Amino acid sequence: MSLGACILLVAVLAGAIGLARVSRRARRRRAPPLSDDLARLARAAPGGRPADALEVPSTSVVEDRAVSFPCHVCGESAMQALDHQVEEIGGERLRRVRVGCDRCGAERQLYVRVMAAA
Ligand SMILES: [Zn+2]
Repeated sequence: MSLGACILLVAVLAGAIGLARVSRRARRRRAPPLSDDLARLARAAPGGRPADALEVPSTSVVEDRAVSFPCHVCGESAMQALDHQVEEIGGERLRRVRVGCDRCGAERQLYVRVMAAA
């Protein structure tokens, strides 16, 4: 093979690799709408919005309840509570728990209402 042909071959291969990279990047860029839809579904699911807050009898089970749902992205039951804050929303104190999936890393927020003892 002549040096010119060799250089041409390398240039063609580099171009092909470059194109593969670009199309991988393009695929990744197209991914967000799906996760946006999933995030929207997660917000519409129980606990996803303050108005749909989950109800628990005591603060000690807030995080247990929040991680009891499977991941909204991969469907695995591998959620962990990442943090947990008290927020006053519409004159009521709600717990906002951020949960993350151990398997795929997806995160979502759940609102939990601690029912006052009667
Ligand atoms: Zn997941």
